Amino acid sequence: MSRIKRLSQRLANQIAAGEVVERPASVVKELLENSLDAGAGRVQVDIEQGGGKLIRVRDDGGGIHKDDMALALSRHATSKIGGLKDLEAIASLGFRGEALASISSVSRLSMTSNADSSGWQVQVEGAEMEARLSPAAHARGTTVEVRDLFFNTPARKKFLRTEKTEFNRIEDVVKRLALSRFDVGFSLNHNGRNIHTLLPAEGDAERRRRVGLVCGPAFVDNSVAVMREAAGLRLWGWVSLPTFSRSQADLQYFYVNGRSIRDKVVTHAVKQAYSDVLYHGRHPAYVLYLELAAAGVDVNVHPTKHEVRFRDSRMVHDFLYSTLHRALADVTPADVMAGDGAATAPGDSSDGDAAQQPHLSLRGGYPYPAGGALAGGGHYPDASAIPAGYPPGHTAGSPYPAAGPALQQHIQDQVAAYERLQAAPDAEIPPLGYAIAQLHGVYILAQNEQGLIIVDMHAAHERITYERMKAARQHERLKMQPLLVPLSLAVSQAEADAAEAQQGVLRGFGLEIERAAAESVIVRQIPTLLREGNVEQLVRDVLSDIMEFGNSERIKSHQDELLSTMACHGSVRANRQLSIPEMNALLRDMEATEHSGQCNHGRPTWVYQSMAQLDKLFMRGQ
Ligand code: ADP
Ligand code: MG
Repeated sequence: MSRIKRLSQRLANQIAAGEVVERPASVVKELLENSLDAGAGRVQVDIEQGGGKLIRVRDDGGGIHKDDMALALSRHATSKIGGLKDLEAIASLGFRGEALASISSVSRLSMTSNADSSGWQVQVEGAEMEARLSPAAHARGTTVEVRDLFFNTPARKKFLRTEKTEFNRIEDVVKRLALSRFDVGFSLNHNGRNIHTLLPAEGDAERRRRVGLVCGPAFVDNSVAVMREAAGLRLWGWVSLPTFSRSQADLQYFYVNGRSIRDKVVTHAVKQAYSDVLYHGRHPAYVLYLELAAAGVDVNVHPTKHEVRFRDSRMVHDFLYSTLHRALADVTPADVMAGDGAATAPGDSSDGDAAQQPHLSLRGGYPYPAGGALAGGGHYPDASAIPAGYPPGHTAGSPYPAAGPALQQHIQDQVAAYERLQAAPDAEIPPLGYAIAQLHGVYILAQNEQGLIIVDMHAAHERITYERMKAARQHERLKMQPLLVPLSLAVSQAEADAAEAQQGVLRGFGLEIERAAAESVIVRQIPTLLREGNVEQLVRDVLSDIMEFGNSERIKSHQDELLSTMACHGSVRANRQLSIPEMNALLRDMEATEHSGQCNHGRPTWVYQSMAQLDKLFMRGQ
């Protein structure tokens, strides 16, 4: 072993650069953060060849004092903190004092700045440490030019991807920062071409416009605004409607006190808020700002400052979850209709993403993911798949869903309410309108003030049943109803074991199941809400879920999934004829039900075509 020696400052900086300067985009991030910290109102970013050749960031901020110019380039030199107290409540984006030192150790860097009246320039080049200072013309503010990144560290340079990939990452950095400071103007140029110009945005409409420029107009049309303040926390921003989900987690912007971060607590809370409404494997889109006292969050966790640590992460998690869950539950048909999407012509729907908000276009095809979870195997079941008791053509007075006295009463109430509404001349037409027909036993057609509504009656009814079951389970035990003839089922030994072991848990879900033999069980009672469903399928699916979850604790923590499985079997099957009052009752129930825009699998329950959209289809008035 050789003896220990102190590393040269140069080498120490290059080692630090390994963490901070991964690629051109990290340089852009550090330089832009410095500009924002300096109070810039406008920043301009010029890139050549994906940043490998040139990165130039110019701002109109406070500038750097002539005597500090060289110091700014050395490690552990910062104007942003002075002591431990400051470190505990950081208000600036930077504070580590190492970005410029790191960047200059792996590039040819020049910095020109004017803090009061005259401009000065320093230059350093890779291994050469002494910065040369000379007078240079510059308006108030600072320009940093980084040329030939990694020219002296070829191993690093090899890791760079194509010019296009590197530029895409730079663009993402600029977008992220642009969403953190609406009051600052940003422009981005690549190889002399202007890519983005974002003027300072004041007021709600302009902010939304910037969000639209960064995230695409479809996000703005298909998102709801969020704003909540409680217990020293404030959350605001926009979250996508569940029907505007993405196959990648690429439209997710989260800021803590103005700093863009990635955080497990945050990701988990958001995911959980969407868990009930998002199709499996899809990702929500959001732009969210969390604000809290600086002492409540530690930003000194990682050199790139992408991560934070919350003092009370449990509280932050619960606050995010409950706020977003509420916001999504409150989405009503009226909100969706109010979106600008209503004015979009068929066929212009943005990126062809399969699960786009469907009210934009009927032409684009229906967003059913392959292998969709429609119970009963498919959308147009053949006649043999129709459960007994749902005779096609049976309409007059047929209750929805062919049910007992309580539901009968409910329907009669709805019918009465509907008739009252019809009678009142200036009665407001409800958001989902009134039914006019049923299409092929699958869809309800309804008209409201602005146009045509099409409802997938099975999907809609499934959601309503699910929400009712959740509410029932929360307030009391799910009501059970004995089967007239107990149902004996042949199952596997493992299933019979599970049914026996979890008998108590099953009763909590409204199912009374006994073991009859090594490989059979008897079903005695089922939830009243599901009395019209297919009992055998219901029990088989519940047993399979229970075996997958394993013990009672896990079953309880997955109770919503279990209820969703159950609701699937208690809902109106496709191909059942409904009378007009039944259809109207379903529409009114949808309006009153949380999450009614999607079925339990995250598929949409209804789509909408405005008269304007229909007129366009027929080229009326053109
Ligand atoms: P940090 O941002 O963590 O303080 P940096 O190495 O990024 O460290 O910058 C060092 C110092 O140089 C900053 O603290 C700041 O005083 C000054 N500085 C850097 N960029 C600018 C700029 N664009 N405008 C004004 N001052 C700047
Ligand atoms: Mg900095």
